[in-house]
Amino acid sequence: MKLVSACLAGVKCRYDGNSKSSKKVMEMVRKGKAIPVCPEQLGGLTTPRLATELINGRAFACDGRDVKKALAKGAAEMLKIAKLAGCKEAILKAKSPSCGSGEIYDGSFSGKLVKGDGITAALLKKNGIKVKTEDEIKAKEEK
Ligand code: SF4
Repeated sequence: MKLVSACLAGVKCRYDGNSKSSKKVMEMVRKGKAIPVCPEQLGGLTTPRLATELINGRAFACDGRDVKKALAKGAAEMLKIAKLAGCKEAILKAKSPSCGSGEIYDGSFSGKLVKGDGITAALLKKNGIKVKTEDEIKAKEEK
């Protein structure tokens, strides 16, 4: 069983009220092989919500509000679900301050990327869960 970002499964849970569907992820959910979850909603944030980025491990909405608590709560709930369902792998949305893995936006809200993980991705990795982005599974398919 895999844990997947709900927005990749067609759920309209993104900050802008949209989804970012991945055919491959939707297929996994359809076949009962993946559980779609959104950590930012689990952390208590609304949809839609203000865009958020990380700076030095802290999380700020684009109006300057500190939202680290909500992102940390969402990450902890994601880990709880992963453990409950025995997930050893997660496929999470690239570049997100919660779900991003390997690279995330730099906190300047200008589209610039830096090396790093979102708060949920980092917590899952720390607990031995393999995290991939939708771009990685797509690239693998195209090889
Ligand atoms: Fe998608 Fe993750 Fe953002 Fe939720 S927190 S909308 S699952 S990228």
